[in-house]
Amino acid sequence: MEEPSDNRQKKVVAVVGGGLVGALNACFFAKRGLDVEVFESREDIRQAKVVKGRSINLALSHRGRQALKHVGMEEKIVSQGIPMHARMIHSLNGKQSPIPYGKKSQVNRLPATYKLTNHSETYPNAKLNFDHKLQDWSAEKGLMTFVRSDGTKEHIQADLIVGCDGAFSAIRKQFLRRSRFNYSQTYIPHGYMELTMPPINGEFAMKPNYLHIWPRNTFMMIALPNLDKTFTCTLFMPFDEFEKITTGDQVIEFFQKCFPDSIPLIGADALREDYFRLPAQAMVSVKCSPYHIGDKCVLMGDAAHAVVPFYGQGMNAGFEDCIVFDEIMEQFNEDLAAVLAEYSRVRVPDDHAIADLAMYNYVEMRAHVNSKWFLFRKHVDNILHFVMPKTIIPLYTMVTFTRTRYHKAVERWQWQDKVNTPTFYFLKYKTKSKTLLLIMQNKRVLKTWQSSLSEMI
Ligand code: FAD
Repeated sequence: MEEPSDNRQKKVVAVVGGGLVGALNACFFAKRGLDVEVFESREDIRQAKVVKGRSINLALSHRGRQALKHVGMEEKIVSQGIPMHARMIHSLNGKQSPIPYGKKSQVNRLPATYKLTNHSETYPNAKLNFDHKLQDWSAEKGLMTFVRSDGTKEHIQADLIVGCDGAFSAIRKQFLRRSRFNYSQTYIPHGYMELTMPPINGEFAMKPNYLHIWPRNTFMMIALPNLDKTFTCTLFMPFDEFEKITTGDQVIEFFQKCFPDSIPLIGADALREDYFRLPAQAMVSVKCSPYHIGDKCVLMGDAAHAVVPFYGQGMNAGFEDCIVFDEIMEQFNEDLAAVLAEYSRVRVPDDHAIADLAMYNYVEMRAHVNSKWFLFRKHVDNILHFVMPKTIIPLYTMVTFTRTRYHKAVERWQWQDKVNTPTFYFLKYKTKSKTLLLIMQNKRVLKTWQSSLSEMI
């Protein structure tokens, strides 16, 4: 066997932030045989009585699953989630219309982080340090200062520092002081608030295997199922609209106007109280580049690219960061200077593309899910995908159900949009019992069916 080269000498990796991406990253580094230590500012969530945090349930799709699979955690996490096969659109009059998509699961933030944290601990070369808040660090020396809740400080040196400390990253602050670092952040005018829909007679109050959406132009509510048969409803609305509602009666009046079918399901009394439990939370989109400093530090997950949550890709993109980094480590024989530069080169365009797409979906989900043209275009894309699965792939499918690089998916989508719009026509003839559908490209018939339309779309 060949002796490992110098690059393969055991390196010490410090992962700052033990959230979803930090915990998964620890597994990746430990699996490679590197000495890895995780430093998390909070106490160990596995022992905490009360855990404060953001949205508890998240949509896990292909990219995230692939990364979990790599460290043997896919089934363990997915089995604790709920499969979701479609969106369910709730109209104002209470009508519900499903729009199918592919394989996607709801996962719970806390159990997923627990499981990844537990898994990282099974590696003898991984160590977890809770109650360690990064206060300062030096890129030149790889030296970090952590402060604990009792005020004591600890200084730690590492070969590689991996910043997984979320959207308001303390690691990233050092990047901002350096020349040629690009950075932008945008707060959207909307905030979000979470409300709980309890079970009815021990069962889910709505069909569970759906992402329920109430699109109302400038407002939107979504609901995701939880294992305890509740739904977490997330209301997205401009901050100034949240602030206009100041009494319980106004809450009911607003829901009566916008989401009437949800009132009996959430419960009028619970709604009056829940609405005022916590203030609406802000949402920020962060883009930066490069993601690394020399051979010393790299940013991943929300620390590198916080995205607005309207494509359900924030965690998935963060998980994919781990797998991409691991692939590049393999490719460059763990030569950190080369790996970090290549990682920025490869990953920045993709993470920027998903940040843009999430922002685009922010507009699309609020306004267009209601529009006939939007629904028609979705059906056109789905039918074309059915006829020519290799040529026409809906954007949502590429983003959610494949590992097509995000920026390539955008390029392909733009190309498809150009070729589809003017050239493909659908003709539908209805007889008493059957529907005949013709797909034509200019004057050429590409395909015909005799069946009920609903069987195909
Ligand atoms: P975080 O989860 O923020 O973890 C960062 C960790 O770093 C935390 O544990 C924190 O305590 C620690 N930390 C912070 N500062 C320090 C410090 N100074 N020292 C040490 N530790 C520190 N994504 C999806 O893929 N699907 C979804 O359906 C989805 N829905 C969402 C819904 C909402 C409403 C929101 C807001 C986000 C949603 N996301 C979704 C995005 C997803 O939550 C994030 O992308 C994901 O949590 C990012 O993980 P992370 O580990 O990078 O950051």
